[in-house]
This record gives sequence, structure tokens and C-alpha cells, in this order.
Amino acid sequence: MERQTFSSTEWSRDRVEQTAARIYDPEKVDKALAVGRAADATAIRDLLQKATRGLGLACEEAAALLQVEAPGLQAEIIEAARQIHAENFRRRITLTTPICPSNRCVNDCLYCPLRRSDAKLKRRSATAAEVQREVMALLDEGYRCLMVVMGDDRSGVPYLRDLVSAVYGVRSGYRQIERVDININPLSLAELRELRQALRLGIYHVFQETYDPEVYARLHPDGPKSDYAWRLTCHDRAYEAGFETVGMGILLGVSDYRPDIVAMLMHAQYLAEIYGRAPHSITYPRLIPAQAAPASHEPACDINDDVFRFVIAVTRLALPTTELILCTPVPTEVRRDLYGLGISQVSIGSLSYPGAYTSDGDPSAAGVLAIGRPRALEALIYRLCEAGFLPNLCCTCLRVPTRGLEVPEGAEKWSFQDRHTTNALVALKEYLLDHASFETQMVGNHLIQKQLSMLSGKIRSLVVELLEEVEAGLRRQRI
Ligand code: SF4
Repeated sequence: MERQTFSSTEWSRDRVEQTAARIYDPEKVDKALAVGRAADATAIRDLLQKATRGLGLACEEAAALLQVEAPGLQAEIIEAARQIHAENFRRRITLTTPICPSNRCVNDCLYCPLRRSDAKLKRRSATAAEVQREVMALLDEGYRCLMVVMGDDRSGVPYLRDLVSAVYGVRSGYRQIERVDININPLSLAELRELRQALRLGIYHVFQETYDPEVYARLHPDGPKSDYAWRLTCHDRAYEAGFETVGMGILLGVSDYRPDIVAMLMHAQYLAEIYGRAPHSITYPRLIPAQAAPASHEPACDINDDVFRFVIAVTRLALPTTELILCTPVPTEVRRDLYGLGISQVSIGSLSYPGAYTSDGDPSAAGVLAIGRPRALEALIYRLCEAGFLPNLCCTCLRVPTRGLEVPEGAEKWSFQDRHTTNALVALKEYLLDHASFETQMVGNHLIQKQLSMLSGKIRSLVVELLEEVEAGLRRQRI
């Protein structure tokens, strides 16, 4: 796919509309679903063979899997996802947490607890000093990577710039936040450039929510977010502004998930072809019933835990190395299963109101029942280690863009994975020594030994050496 050239350095309305039309073509989505619908059990098993070699899936191939209804064949799809996920992620789960400095928003999204028309919700924007107190609490708990999540409060780039600088400025001993990701409204090219030049930012997440323009218009009746095409083109502007990588997502439950996922995969493929970099991650939030958010009580599509599991499995097969982020509440046993078949990152302690991690916050400002709790990190690390998963607190590896679609066969992915595993083991050892209780140290060290036994001789020796350095007091050693 060739990139179109435009004379303007900013994005004109024509450019926005033309780019949006290239990203989302409803006829192409329908065609992919129709082709996929024709696939029989033999064709589906052929696709699973391809996917388990780590080759990813074309959009119409993913469309075929998404439309499988036979329980036996669905189970085969889930098992195939389990296999490729284990090979590519080696039971590694990256841990991050959101920080929500403002709950003000000018938009009126019908599914959201922060929507403008909820006049009863107490609104607040945290100061830089308040945010720094939250960051200190999170650093002391052991976090290294944060995601700043905000509605569209029109405070613009200066507020965000000061806020992220304040986050990076907090020190607790040797510790500081290593990477800040942002999940904010779509910005202009000039704003993104300004941010990019001023700050070491990680991933720019923007979720389209739904690709269906009619459903989108119904759910976003007012405010800047009602501009479908402006939102759809924000990843292009981010890459153009110099962001290394971006995150995408759709809100499950607001529309039929199958066309939305196919459209999102086409969008990911478009970005990979135009910019040479596939998106870093996919996130699938689910509708959560919330006060004053009518659409959150009337899902257009039931996304129960089985459907959610199936969606994660198909996405893992289509995008074998892309991070899949869990940010939605699920029962513990389902969550554990998802870690084994596709989820590679989890956003925990998801407290969505200013001051959530200190006594500055007021939980009623979240608009929904808070789904996380302070000091959640150690409990999760304990449970992950106990279940044989490797909790990953290292963010440096995530600065390298993942390959995403169509990974070629060969050895490269193994060295890439060795590096991720090594850094995760070193960061875990640091956490155990600096933050963990005796019980968590026991279960964590056992996990480290188990992971070491799975590494090849050369890598194992290197990791053992690095772990000894951590024991001796060295910190933040990464390869
Ligand atoms: S979804 Fe985001 S933009 Fe929409 S009302 Fe909520 S916070 Fe604002």
C-alpha cells in the first residue's frame, strides 16, 4: 500500500477524510466476513496449522475463525492460541497501572461514567504535586510503568506535558518510573510533535471503540469525540509525529464484535504497511454498567466470558507477537485462563479517579465501582508466580516495537523472546529483594528457578550472572 502525499504539514479536513476512507472500507470488511463464512472445518484446521507456526493470519482468515460456532472447533482454536502464546510469550505477563489525573470531559459518550452530562459526578483535575504523591506511592509498591488515562478535558498539551514531566521527576531511592504511556483524546500533528519533542513517552493508545460509523455516531452524539474520521486517523498522526508505536482497541459490547475486529485487524495491517510498524498492543475493554451511562446497560452484543476468551484466542492467532492487554474485570479463573492463551499484559489496580493511590482521592469521582485496590501489585505477583506465570515489571523491552502481523519463520523471534524473558527475570528479582514479603520471595524465587531451567545454556549463564549482580546490590541491569 502506497502512502499518499499531501502538501500541508498539518492535517486538512480532506486529508482526514481520505485517510479515514483508506483505513475503514465497509465493503472490504463485508467481503472478508463473507469469504471467512465459507470456510469449512478442513479449511479452519489448515488455518490453525499456519497460525501455530507463528505466521499470523490475514484479515479474511481471522474472519473465518471468528465465525466458527461449533464448540469442538472453537476448542481447537483456543488450544492453538494457547500453543502459539506459550511459544511467543513464555508465560510472561507485563504489569502496568493507570493513573487518572482528571475526570473532567467535554464529550458525552453514552457508555461512559465520566460523560459530560453526568452533572452529579464530582469533577477534579489533580495538580502536579498531587500526581507526584500518587507516583511515589506506586513506585514504593514496585511499579515501573504507568499509563496516564484521561478524558478530553481540553486542558491540552501544556497540562499533559507538565504532568508527565512531574511523573518522570519523582525518585524513590534508585527507583523512578521508566516509561509513561498515554491514553488520551486524538491530538493534532502539531500537538503530538510538541509532546514527542518534550517528553520520553512510551505508547500512545487511542481506541476507536467501534468501526461502524452509524453505531459510532449514535454513541458519540456530541463533543469532539463525535468526529469519527479525526479519531480514526490519530495513529497516522502519531507515527508522523515520531511516536515509536501505538495502541489500538475496540469497546466490546457496543456492536457486533466480528466486523469490528476484522476492521481493526485491517487498520493494524494498514499501519504496518504504511509506517513499517504494527501497533504495539490491542486492548479490548468491555461495557461495564455505570451510573448515568445508558448505553452501558444495553449492550448490543453479549460479550460473556466465553465470547471474550474466544476473541482473545483468535486475536492471538492473528497477531502472534502483539501485546494483548487485559483492562476489564473478569473472574479469577477466567483471568488465569486468559493469561495462558493470549493476554500478555494486565493493567491492574485500575482506579479511575484523581488521587486514587493516596488519601487525596475520592472514590465516588470514579463514576463506577473502583475495580482495583491499592497494594494490589504484590497479591497479583504472588498469584502469578504460584500459577507458574512470570510477572514482568520491566518496561525497557516494550520500547522496541513488536513485529505484529505476519512474523517470518526463523530464529530471530527466539532471541527477541530471550531478551524479554531475561529482563523480566532481572526485574522480578529486584522486586522480590526490594518490595516483597518473605512468602512472595519464596514463591517468586521458585518461579525464577523454574524459568531458568527452561533457558538454553548460553542464555541461562547470562541470566544467572545478572541475577547474582542484583543479589549483590546492582539495579536496573537490562539487556
Ligand atoms: S469515553 Fe472518554 S471521551 Fe467519552 S465521555 Fe468518557 S472520558 Fe470522555
